[in-house]
Amino acid sequence: MITDSERATAQRNTKSLRRAVNLMCKDCVYDDHESGNWRQQTEGCTSLTCPLWNFRPVSHPRVE
Ligand code: SF4
Repeated sequence: MITDSERATAQRNTKSLRRAVNLMCKDCVYDDHESGNWRQQTEGCTSLTCPLWNFRPVSHPRVE
């Protein structure tokens, strides 16, 4: 879950698609009671039909 501060920052910085996707995924899947940081948890997302899946944050940059 994203913090109120992160949500407020995202709302102010609406021109950053990267930030918007990162915060969306973090808000969607992150559980601070589970193992791994938020990037590791979004990397492990199994919702392959989600339109954001290919763009979700990962713990290591993709090699294209
Ligand atoms: S890619 Fe996964 S974590 Fe990101 S919004 Fe979609 S379902 Fe949620």
